[in-house]
Amino acid sequence: MAVLKPLTPMNARFRRRTPGAGRLLRLAAACAVPVALATCSEPSEQTIAYSRLKERIAAGQVREVRLSDYQVQATSTTAARKAGAPERWVATRVPGDDQLVSLLEAKHVQYDGFGGGAPRPNPVAVLVLLIVGAGILVAAWRMRRNSVRGVSPVGRMRVKDSHGASETSFDDVAGVDEAKEELEEIVHFLRTPEKFARLGARVPRGVLLVGPPGTGKTLLAKAVAGEAGVPFFSISGAEFVEVYVGVGASRVRKLFQQARAKGRAIIFIDELDAIGKTRSNSLTGANDEREQTLNQLLVEMDGFDPRSGIIVMAATNRPEILDPALLRPGRFDRQVLVDRPDPIGREAILRVHARNVRLDDDVDLAHIAQRTPGFVGADLANVLNEAALLAARADKPAVGMEELDAAIDRVVAGLEKKNRLVNEKERRIVAWHEAGHALVAESVPTAEPVKKVSIIPRGAAALGYTQQLAEDRLLMQEDELLDRLAVLLGGRAAEHIAFGKLSTGASNDLERATSLARRMVCEFGMSARVGPISIATPAAGRARGESEPWSDETAARVEREVQQILAAAFDRAVAILETQRASLDAVAERLLEFGSLHREELLRAMNAATPA
Ligand code: ADP
Ligand code: MG
Ligand code: ZN
Repeated sequence: MAVLKPLTPMNARFRRRTPGAGRLLRLAAACAVPVALATCSEPSEQTIAYSRLKERIAAGQVREVRLSDYQVQATSTTAARKAGAPERWVATRVPGDDQLVSLLEAKHVQYDGFGGGAPRPNPVAVLVLLIVGAGILVAAWRMRRNSVRGVSPVGRMRVKDSHGASETSFDDVAGVDEAKEELEEIVHFLRTPEKFARLGARVPRGVLLVGPPGTGKTLLAKAVAGEAGVPFFSISGAEFVEVYVGVGASRVRKLFQQARAKGRAIIFIDELDAIGKTRSNSLTGANDEREQTLNQLLVEMDGFDPRSGIIVMAATNRPEILDPALLRPGRFDRQVLVDRPDPIGREAILRVHARNVRLDDDVDLAHIAQRTPGFVGADLANVLNEAALLAARADKPAVGMEELDAAIDRVVAGLEKKNRLVNEKERRIVAWHEAGHALVAESVPTAEPVKKVSIIPRGAAALGYTQQLAEDRLLMQEDELLDRLAVLLGGRAAEHIAFGKLSTGASNDLERATSLARRMVCEFGMSARVGPISIATPAAGRARGESEPWSDETAARVEREVQQILAAAFDRAVAILETQRASLDAVAERLLEFGSLHREELLRAMNAATPA
């Protein structure tokens, strides 16, 4: 159950209760609670929500569990009881949740089934239930009568077949025409996989949608499924972050199983970066779960026949942090950029969403598109929605320019906090910064070649990025590490050269460079002055409850050495960039113009600037 995110939640039909019935229920509950409390014979048993019970289990507060189809009874540990927990927690099981057992096993909690199901009913409780039930029936009957007479219409939700095809189409997505064009091919393939197979055409297995949040990546994936008329299975990488070892991997396995059973399908993995982060730099075992999930995903992707009619799509706004294994041929080897829309695109998106809103005749969507630079599809949908709310509050017959203006101001205010729009000056700084990384990477002997440089903001943190063709490395030599340090500091060096001052944008680089330099000194014994010695970092020592494992003198020496390594790397980066000042400026200017450069474009910009 948890594996799938059906297009319409299965329980949608339960969600919308009529207001009258809701009030009645609350009333009934208010009467029932005192009765139930009065008859509760066992003071040390507590009924809690299923989710809370799972948290208790995860927190290790549960010693033993008894399960029926309907109920979970959990005996608390002595430690938990000392801390004030009751002897027993009871929760109603959520139908279809099959993770409980894996959780129990992961936590080594003893568990057993118990017969029959619902526990022996308490007569008073039964009476209360009967009264409540009768009340609801009467209420429902009266409301039905009313609705027949047209007084109070009872809303009924249409429940879509969750396994059916997606109903989203390309018409619902606007302003991202290039992405749509690239995805056309996938649609063709999904419609007639036989044709592609017959011709021996190589079809992509995995398509990665890359772009800032809210640009319509999820929407596009659904639209591909809708256009092709195939089922859409989706999970979000973020769901895996907090789960227990083994659960993520088994969810991935099930997801692929279900899709395979359908023959043709789209499997969509949202927020791929949450599971697909680079594996190499984890020193602790804390990322086991993510790694298992990622490995399972790789296994599944390698395991199916690409001509079978299953396409795996994924979305991320941080492609630069993905594990390179994910991007290899046969996996997510096709990247589709879903970028922020231009004014024409914004107008088209507004038009899509205006289909559901009644607009005044004086509304000029082109004007609104002009007024909303940097807005993504989700923001524009939000503007129309806010405007409709304002119009409704003012009792207007239609949404006018006044409401739209106010709505834009509101959304901008929200965005300024959340999604800082990069102004021109900042863009220039970022352009030189990234150009610096890229040029140093191309100049030092051992760095991996640059695949792409970009100043298109990705999410809140990264203002730009330089992506290198990384390989899986087990061993690195000193000169390689020094080269890497120079590349990391290349951004800062470029800012220093071009603007004569530094910005706050390089703090992450500095953090990574510092940690690398520190490891060179403390773990790899690469500093002559400190010598071939392994020194535990203070943090690791403290975690084990030890006091500082080294003397103040050693600490000071390490600090000095780290500083020197970093200063030397920075000077080196500055020297490299100074000799290539023309290239640096040329690459930065191109970045300002195009937003991002692929390897060939980067090399062309560099070469054009160097006199032959
Ligand atoms: P992402 O997955 O890129 O973060 P979503 O697809 O979740 O973005 O977009 C959220 C909502 O914003 C969509 O459901 C849709 O209403 C609106 N939206 C975003 N992009 C577009 C677009 N290009 N065209 C139309 N609507 C869009
Ligand atoms: Mg999304
Ligand atoms: Zn940087």
